Amino acid sequence: MAVLVTGASGFIALHVINLLLSQNYKVIGTVRSQDKVDKIIKQFNNPNLSFELVTDITKLDAFDETLKKHSNEIDYVIHMASPLPDEGNTDFENHYLLPAVNGTKSVLSAIKKFAPKGVKHVVMTSSIVAMLNVNDDSAITTEKDWNPITWEQAKTSSFLCYFGSKTYSEKAAWDFLKENKDEVDFKFTTVNPVMVFGRQMFDEDVKDTLNVSCEYVNKILYLPPTEKLSQDYAMSYVHVDDVALAHVMAMREDRLDGERLLLSAGTYSDQLVANSINKQFPQVKGTIPAAIENCDKLMIRYDSIATQKQLGIEWKSFDVAVYDIAHQALKRLGKL
Ligand code: NDP
Repeated sequence: MAVLVTGASGFIALHVINLLLSQNYKVIGTVRSQDKVDKIIKQFNNPNLSFELVTDITKLDAFDETLKKHSNEIDYVIHMASPLPDEGNTDFENHYLLPAVNGTKSVLSAIKKFAPKGVKHVVMTSSIVAMLNVNDDSAITTEKDWNPITWEQAKTSSFLCYFGSKTYSEKAAWDFLKENKDEVDFKFTTVNPVMVFGRQMFDEDVKDTLNVSCEYVNKILYLPPTEKLSQDYAMSYVHVDDVALAHVMAMREDRLDGERLLLSAGTYSDQLVANSINKQFPQVKGTIPAAIENCDKLMIRYDSIATQKQLGIEWKSFDVAVYDIAHQALKRLGKL
């Protein structure tokens, strides 16, 4: 059984690949540079892992060669390649919107062209930001909701553009399914996580700055003890191990066809990250922002009970999610 994983060099993708390899799947990853192929092949050192180069996912035939070459092998596709927020980049359409939307269209149309009967299930990594209401902070989001963000609104900041890129790319996928329902056979599920926390798959990838989501924890380790942190702004987290498991369940289980899975384990604030680090790593007390008690009454933003019932995953706790990032980072800094 082979799984095509796009964006195979990413933080979440490496965990998904690790889980797939541990379950004896063959994995074909797509990345955009040979350097990444060489590095990841070495890191996993597993004969069941191979790669194809897909250098520009904005091209509508970007995945044709890969699907043509492996049409007889690929049973499942996990589509993850998509740009994450990068405050330095203001080329909104070309950097975010087009790669996300066209990348999704191109992988689905390559399946339609070369493996319309072979691929059994496609899982797309979407995001909570395709569901939440960007115009209403007080709304409680569920699996049924769509972000009402407009294309024009998306082109006003890198964060909004990321929101737009995930919303419009997920919409493009559902539209494709409607338009091609007589021509493709595969089942389709989206996984929509909130902020994903957890260790980097390989210690050597831990740097001063981590991937976008883990950096929300990592940054606290570099702040002075006098720093005042937000206590009331509610963010949400889910552990990368649970996210990887949800992808593999979504891929394997026909009953999840047509579902949007909202993965959220709970709510947190920057101050609660500092509290958790202070509690679990007493050796850094006094060098990072101090703990403050009784600041855990945060607004609930997401209702993911339907997904919890479908997956039955017992989400890893906030302390475990914070520990896994902080432990790896502090070890590298020689502070443990
Ligand atoms: P990473 O930045 O670590 O991974 C993103 C992956 O997408 C990388 O493989 C990257 O390739 C690839 N990619 C980005 N832009 C392009 C492009 N223009 N062309 C080709 N490939 C591209 O992020 P995560 O692992 O965190 O995210 C993976 C997926 O999960 C994304 O779809 C993201 O939107 C989604 N997600 C993530 C959440 C999180 O909290 N981390 C929450 C919700 C959803 P390269 O290595 O070459 O840059």
